[in-house]
Amino acid sequence: MKVLFSTWKDKLIDNRGKPQDAWVDCPVKLPEAFDQNRKLTGFIGWGGIIILNEPYDVVEMAANYAKALQQSSCGKCFPCRVGTKVMEDLYSKILDGKGSADDLKQLEGLCETISKNSKCGIGQLGPEPIIQSIQYFRDDYQAYISGLKKAPGFHYPYKMTAPCTSACPTGMDIPLYIEHIKEGNFAESLKTIRTASPMASTLGRACFHPCENSCRRDNVDRSLAICKLKRFAWDYEDQHVTDKPENPMKHTRPEKVAVVGAGPAGLSCAYYLVLQGFHVTVFEKLPTLGGAAWTGIPHYRIPKHIMAREVKYLEDLGVEIKFGVEFGKDETFASLRSKGVKAFFLATGGDISKEMGVEGEKDNIPGVYGGIAILKDITDNVTKDVVKVPGLVPAHVPIPQTVLVVGAGNTAMDCVRSYIRLGCKDVNIVYRRTKKEMPADPHEVHESEDEGVKFNFLLAPTKLVTENGKLVGLECQKMEMGQPDESGRRKPVPVKGSEFVLKADMIISAIGQDCDIRFLKEEPTIKTTKWNTIVTNEDTFQTAVPDVFAGGDVVSGPLNLVTAVGHARRAAQGIGQFLRGESVGQTDAQIMEKIIAGIGAYDRTEEVPQAKGWNRKDMPICSRQDKVASFNEVELGYPLEDAMEEAARCMRCYIVGMACVPVQGGAK
Ligand SMILES: Cc1cc2nc3c(=O)[nH]c(=O)nc-3n(C[C@H](O)[C@H](O)[C@H](O)COP(=O)(O)OP(=O)(O)OC[C@H]3O[C@@H](n4cnc5c(N)ncnc54)[C@H](O)[C@@H]3O)c2cc1C
Repeated sequence: MKVLFSTWKDKLIDNRGKPQDAWVDCPVKLPEAFDQNRKLTGFIGWGGIIILNEPYDVVEMAANYAKALQQSSCGKCFPCRVGTKVMEDLYSKILDGKGSADDLKQLEGLCETISKNSKCGIGQLGPEPIIQSIQYFRDDYQAYISGLKKAPGFHYPYKMTAPCTSACPTGMDIPLYIEHIKEGNFAESLKTIRTASPMASTLGRACFHPCENSCRRDNVDRSLAICKLKRFAWDYEDQHVTDKPENPMKHTRPEKVAVVGAGPAGLSCAYYLVLQGFHVTVFEKLPTLGGAAWTGIPHYRIPKHIMAREVKYLEDLGVEIKFGVEFGKDETFASLRSKGVKAFFLATGGDISKEMGVEGEKDNIPGVYGGIAILKDITDNVTKDVVKVPGLVPAHVPIPQTVLVVGAGNTAMDCVRSYIRLGCKDVNIVYRRTKKEMPADPHEVHESEDEGVKFNFLLAPTKLVTENGKLVGLECQKMEMGQPDESGRRKPVPVKGSEFVLKADMIISAIGQDCDIRFLKEEPTIKTTKWNTIVTNEDTFQTAVPDVFAGGDVVSGPLNLVTAVGHARRAAQGIGQFLRGESVGQTDAQIMEKIIAGIGAYDRTEEVPQAKGWNRKDMPICSRQDKVASFNEVELGYPLEDAMEEAARCMRCYIVGMACVPVQGGAK
């Protein structure tokens, strides 16, 4: 994008005094406006200064940035705590026209001292743009010092975040919860996690942890075990605390909200809503809670008795869950509105397995299953003695000689790993691309290989093969990888005449899921996509019908736990605003969070000045033999000392980003 000036990541672009058509491009992505009504003309943060256009005032922006650094400083290390305060005071003098050239020298010296001697990102990365502002805008400072310039009083919203936090859809303050673990303050750690998500156990067990892919420690040696430390904080409370949680806001407001679906999105939204004082009832068609985290993710990854305890916490806070109620059939928008419901959150996920599109699939051949249904049956059977769920009728789970699972995502991995545990001797994946393109989490692929699953790559299923009405195999065609398509992804191309039959007495389709949104017939103005997902505002999750919000997989399509929880957090804020009669929208801090994510808080190529070689402490797992012999949890939990040691590897890479919004109000 074309900008007037930038020092971003040490690349100087100075278009001041040049006609706009001669401006050089800047590689940073910033939106053209702060929001619908307000311009964005500048940005200052950990990577430098960017000026998009007039009007701007770099001195006032730097002064506000110094103040933001002081407010973001945790105060634990002296140079940052005191240094940023002195910086703030010096800027106050300068903006009041009482500054001097010596003050500028002192500012530069302070910035260097703070950067060199601070222990976290605020102090280490924060001051550099202030030095740059003095270096490249000295005349502007001089104008203030000589009393020729007055601060325009623009608005400077800012956000403190970290690369890991910015990558987390819930916006969790990860460095803070890790710091609490390091200091042995486990209750505070869980409290911090719960400000962003009530599902520390579920996320700590099965989140795909985008945070760890944006961990600056990875630039030094290996990323921090952020996900498993979250589980540690929850496990610790589970094993040590017996008090019921308190919700001082419980039922302090009269409005009723209906949440449809007791999956991670529905439960999380219900949690944030009861904390705002609303009466919340979750309607769930099944007898079990947790959505796909219960029915899909197997017991050996998320034990269901543990999940039940996690959700009990929400019930103690005031969330009511009604099981066996199918929305669209047992209750509708009209029936619930007539009972006083003032807002809805639709979180029905996507629980219909996609068909493979092979010959014979419509013939109801015994032995052919959808991955979602079979995983649910397995969980119901495996957990029937562990978790007593009223109304749960476990189905018979067939155990084949040879099972072929078609697909290479996480559902496919859960199917094969479950069949290994059920004692099936010949467990296979059939995938039409290569290992490199597998969408499953690499950890799951590794575990499946370790447990004895066979992988058949570059094979596309074409036909179910039967003998006397009995399933005996799957006809497949060999594929080869062709040229990349418009998306840049190489497409598999069939090899003519290469069909052959893979033997099987069970075939499971695990190539994706669809959403069942038939209940929307009653509200035809709510828009849907061609993939049968619900269209909402991407920031507030409000649909075209003002009292109806939606989130999770039914909006994104099948995705992941942490995105579903992130949607729920935003939607609950929107529902709260709607019910309180406020305008439904984002806060300035949320807009900043999005701007920072757009710029990219994490730089994989950054040379991080830290000593290498402090090895990551991974969570211990059970032996391979124990793993494949039962549905017991594979990961055994962190011993306390290991968790504290792992937490100490965190470098607290906090950063501050600030925008210049040229509307009056909020300078100094
Ligand atoms: C097998 C499998 C493995 C997975 N593994 C992982 C993993 O390791 N990590 C990860 O991050 N993600 C994983 N995912 C994805 C993750 O589970 C989902 O993205 C997440 O559960 C979505 O949450 P949700 O609340 O939107 O929907 P869901 O979890 O699907 O919950 C929707 C709930 O709504 C209920 N419902 C549906 N229709 C109605 C209705 N009409 N009336 C009342 N109730 C209704 C359903 O019964 C269900 O309980 C996996 C998914 C599957 C299927």
